[in-house]
Amino acid sequence: MSPSDRNPRTGCPVTRQESWIARLRAAGVPDAAGDFRRIFRWACDTGTTDSGPQVREDPGALALRMLEFGVSERETRRPLSQIIGKREFWKGTFKVTHDVLDPRPETELLVELGLQEPFARVLDLGTGSGCVVISLLMERPNARGVGTDISKRALRVARENAESMGVAERVILPVSDWFDDVDGRYDLVVSNPPYVASEEIGDLPPEVRCHEPRVALAGGIDGLSAYRAIAAGARKHLTPGGRLLVEIGPAQADGVRSLMADAGLDILAVHADLDGRDRVVAARNSA
Ligand code: GLN
Repeated sequence: MSPSDRNPRTGCPVTRQESWIARLRAAGVPDAAGDFRRIFRWACDTGTTDSGPQVREDPGALALRMLEFGVSERETRRPLSQIIGKREFWKGTFKVTHDVLDPRPETELLVELGLQEPFARVLDLGTGSGCVVISLLMERPNARGVGTDISKRALRVARENAESMGVAERVILPVSDWFDDVDGRYDLVVSNPPYVASEEIGDLPPEVRCHEPRVALAGGIDGLSAYRAIAAGARKHLTPGGRLLVEIGPAQADGVRSLMADAGLDILAVHADLDGRDRVVAARNSA
């Protein structure tokens, strides 16, 4: 391989770029060139890490093998974050595995809205990777948090993320089915629960349908099961004046708003995401 075939910074091989991108395109990957660039950067950065004398391999060859691995995995429509093992969210880089929902950019709206009022104690129901509660705690160094999940394996990932993001001392991560094993009151309760209706699961892209945890997606027959459980326990676990912020699917604003109002909460607003779709219902436990 001639020197011009390599990335000058990392020594990573860049030959066959077009054929790699073509493979991704043929597999139906939506942003084939963008995903190739991210796999390429990951292969170069990881494949050229100087991890001591035990690694004797030519870094270019190692990076090439990782590139080939990354592209083949992405061809199966495995989510990019699961392949490279991480995802940027808010101001952090979060570990991602097949046990947690891949943090989506639209979920950052929960963080943004959470930060609009002071809070000392925050509860995140169905925390997954922990991205929401951890981001909130990173922004509020005096606050403490609880992130629950029904999945122990998800909580292990959340624990690692809390540690790498420096908030581990301020968060506890218990197993709980919504409010079942939660005590006390919180001035902010947030959640991105599973909200996909049973009959719509089949319409999700293969990345989501085949590779993401079903328990993080499936919201029962009408997609609203989790909101019913959250509505039922909300007033008991919110301080007077405390806020509830839940992510919703784009067509669920009316359904979720009525569930929360019927549970005795005051509806503050339905907030749209950057694409203009309804994304978060905000409610308050009136004092
Ligand atoms: N936004 C996700 C999707 O459909 C669903 C996540 C959820 O159910 N909370 O890709």
